[in-house]
Amino acid sequence: MHTIQLKKNKDKAAFQLHPWVFSGAIENIQGNPENGDIVQVMNFSGEFVAYGYYNNLSRVAVRLIEWHPDQLPDEQWWRMRIQRAVQAREHLLRSGDTDTLRLIFAEADFLPGLIADKYGDFISLQVHASGVERVKPIIIDELDQLLKPKGIYERSDDNARGHEGLAGSNGLLFGLHPPEFAPIRENGILYEVNIAEGQKSGFYCDQRDNRLLTAQYAKGKRVLDGFCYSGGFSLNALAQGAREVVSVDSSALALETLQRNITLNGYDAANHTAIQADVNKQLRAFSEAGERFDLIILDPPKYAPSRSSLGKAARAYKDLNRRGLMLLESGGLLATFSCSAAMDMATFKQVLAWAALDAGKEIQFIRQFTQPEDHPVRASFSEGEYLKGLLCRVV
Ligand code: SAH
Repeated sequence: MHTIQLKKNKDKAAFQLHPWVFSGAIENIQGNPENGDIVQVMNFSGEFVAYGYYNNLSRVAVRLIEWHPDQLPDEQWWRMRIQRAVQAREHLLRSGDTDTLRLIFAEADFLPGLIADKYGDFISLQVHASGVERVKPIIIDELDQLLKPKGIYERSDDNARGHEGLAGSNGLLFGLHPPEFAPIRENGILYEVNIAEGQKSGFYCDQRDNRLLTAQYAKGKRVLDGFCYSGGFSLNALAQGAREVVSVDSSALALETLQRNITLNGYDAANHTAIQADVNKQLRAFSEAGERFDLIILDPPKYAPSRSSLGKAARAYKDLNRRGLMLLESGGLLATFSCSAAMDMATFKQVLAWAALDAGKEIQFIRQFTQPEDHPVRASFSEGEYLKGLLCRVV
C-alpha cells in the first residue's frame, strides 16, 4: 500500500476526522500512487491516521474515508457505506408523499466526491473524485440492488471533475434513459423533472422541508416567489390556498416546467403569473409600480462560492433583500435563503438587519430554516453546512 506521510503538526484535523488532506500538508509519499488509488496516511511520527483516495492534481490531495486501520476500503467496504447511507433514509423512502431525495451526500455520508439523488424511479449520480470514478460499477450495482431504479443517469459537474483531471461525464449509466419529463412527487405535489438537462441534477430537493414550512403562511395571501425554478415554493403556496402567486426566474425552461407542474397538479392557472426576468430588476419594477405582496420568497443561486467572495456576496444579499422588504407592508413576511456555505447564519442575520434598516423597515426573525436530514452535516465537516434561511416579519 502506498503511504502518504504528513508534515510535523499537520495531523490534527485528520485525527479529528476532517476528511481533507491538502497537498501542502504532505511531507513525503512512499510508493508511487496513481490518481484514484487508495493510500494510507500516517503522521510525522509514523502513526496510522486514515485511508483515503489520492489525487495529485487536486488541492485536496487525499480525501479521507476510513479511520480504522483494519477496515481497508475494498468492494465490501463500498457496498457497506452505500447501504448505510440509504438505510439512514429509509423512513423518508417509505413516505408516500415524497419519492425524491438525496441518497448519498458526499463527505457527510463518508463518501467524498459522490452524490446520489433519487428522482422517483430514477437515480442521478455525480462523481467528482477519481477515487470514486474507479468504483463506479460497484456503486451502480449496489444502488440497483438496494433500490431497483428504472435507470441511473450521470450528471457530474465538469468543473469539479476537471480539478481531479477527469474528463466531463454526463449520460446513461444503467437501465433506461429517463424521459424528458420524469414524474416525481414531493410533499404530495407532482413535478416533472428533466434529469438529463435540468439545472444541477434537475431539482432542488434540499428545499423540501422549507417549501412546506413557508407555505403554511400562504393561505389567502398574495405571494411572490423570486428565483422560482420549477416552482417548488409557488406550488406549495398554491396547494395551501394562496390567493395569487407571482413567480419570477430568468430561465425560460424553468418557467415552462413550472407552468406544466401547475397543470399537472390541477391548480387554477388563473391564480398564477410567471415572469421571466432578473429578480433584482423585477423587484425594482414592482416598487415603482406600487405593487405589494404579503409573502415573498427569495431563494437566489449561490452568491458566495468561496470565503474570499463573502464581502461582495453580502452586499448582493443585502440589496436583494432590501428590495424585497420594500414590497411588504406591516405584517408581511419574507422567507429568504442563502445556499452559500461561506455565509453563516450569524452573518446572514446581520445582512438582513442591514437590509431592513436601508429599507426603512423593522423586522423580526420568526423562524430559521436549514437543510433537510437527507443533506446531513457531519460534526467533523462543517463545510457541508450550506443552506440557511430566515423567515422575517415586518413589524
Ligand atoms: N427556489 C427554487 C430553486 C432556486 S435555484 C426551488 O424551490 O426549486 C435558483 C434559480 O435562480 C434558478 O432557477 C435560476 O434560473 C435563477 N436565477 C439565477 N439568477 C437569476 C436572476 N438574476 N434573476 C432571476 N432568476 C435567476
